[in-house]
Amino acid sequence: MVTHDVIIVGGSVAGCAAAMLFARAGLTVALVERNPDPDAYKRLCTHYIQASALPVLERLGLARAIEASGGVRNRLDLHTRWGWIREGEVLAGHPAHGYNLRRVRLDPLIRAQAAATPGIEWLPGHSATGLGIEAGRVAALTIRDARGTERILRGRLHVGADGRASALARFAGLKPRETPNARFFYYAAYRGLDPNGGRSRMWMGEEGICYTFPNEDGITVAAATLPRAQLPAFKAEPEAALARTLAALPEGPNLAAAERIGPVMGFVDMPNLRRPATRPGLALIGDAALSVDPVWGTGCAFALQSAAWLSDATAETILSHGPIDRALKTYARHHRRALAGHAWHIASYASGRRWWWLERLMLEAAAHDPAQARRLFAYAARSLGLVEFMAPTALARAAATVLRARLAGGRPRLDPRVEAA
Ligand SMILES: Cc1cc2nc3c(=O)[nH]c(=O)nc-3n(C[C@H](O)[C@H](O)[C@H](O)COP(=O)(O)OP(=O)(O)OC[C@H]3O[C@@H](n4cnc5c(N)ncnc54)[C@H](O)[C@@H]3O)c2cc1C
Repeated sequence: MVTHDVIIVGGSVAGCAAAMLFARAGLTVALVERNPDPDAYKRLCTHYIQASALPVLERLGLARAIEASGGVRNRLDLHTRWGWIREGEVLAGHPAHGYNLRRVRLDPLIRAQAAATPGIEWLPGHSATGLGIEAGRVAALTIRDARGTERILRGRLHVGADGRASALARFAGLKPRETPNARFFYYAAYRGLDPNGGRSRMWMGEEGICYTFPNEDGITVAAATLPRAQLPAFKAEPEAALARTLAALPEGPNLAAAERIGPVMGFVDMPNLRRPATRPGLALIGDAALSVDPVWGTGCAFALQSAAWLSDATAETILSHGPIDRALKTYARHHRRALAGHAWHIASYASGRRWWWLERLMLEAAAHDPAQARRLFAYAARSLGLVEFMAPTALARAAATVLRARLAGGRPRLDPRVEAA
């Protein structure tokens, strides 16, 4: 009775990556996407793909395709009250870089590759409208096309890759845990903005964060996330308020002198959402499982990584008709271990608080010591977990560095390789 081994809803970053990985493992896959347009793309994104996703992108052959589309290998300059911390050599054993490529390029590229993968039945223009649950297990999915024709698909595994408002999670009763985001977020893309040698910049203020991310074709995204008290000025004049905010930063960019490409985008309320990643017969990946404050640019990497964790945990078992729900528990455990620390830390900052002294300690230490800067950038790139980053030995080393630096009263010592570059 099974129509496909795996049925995936959502043909964006997470869904396409998972579909390709399952199909390459020899499984039959239905990939259901409600948007019929092959060139559709996600508009709410600032396009920074963290380095933690590089192994998955390479495995899928997407790293090469991204570079061929002009994707920029991202490196970060971080401004703190101790000055600039510039990303240099990466922490040993960690991915070298991520990419900046606008979604208008990235999404059609991933989708085209998935649609052309043998073993995937690509179903654009179809919406998931219901789940069939038998003996407590998700056993079937109802989809509907634009004419209203319904079809029932039955899989061994069903996957919700349908974004933060996940319909599949709702049908399956997987309720999100929600924590507030006290800051609002505005951004726009510009041509002709100082590209900073292709390096991304982030200003980490006490109240909020601003950044510029250079992408392909000389287009740079500029963004600000700030406390709600500053919202009226942005609502009144979004472009002028964004330009004023960024121009006031140390070495801040002059948006007024650049050409804006597309609208100024803003949103006021975007709480952090986290759902249980599985229930029998069903897994959630990408934003459907975890959608956090976008200021950290983690969503695409988490989407790609969770797709890989799911296929690694379950593909063999599905192929051999083994106990899928046990394999799903392995996936849920992996998801939790890898992302719970990041999710907690991001949600905590989104509460609107100022920096904790421990965070200040790690930033100050990184401004003085290239080895500690490498750890900070690996954490920001999400290839190093919170527990490892904040391990007692790391904190002790940071405290010693800061103490030494303060006693010496010297300027932060930055990585000479980066300074020279
Ligand atoms: C303002 C903003 C800035 C961001 N900036 C960054 C950034 O710089 N870097 C980063 O990594 N992340 C960023 N993100 C987050 C990132 O955009 C998401 O995390 C990422 O797109 C998640 O991918 P996904 O595949 O899980 O879901 P989505 O990209 O949301 O895709 C879900 C797909 O499911 C389809 N779908 C939904 N419902 C159904 C249904 N019922 N039936 C069929 N199909 C359905 C949709 O059409 C869509 O194609 C940002 C987010 C916001 C809001």
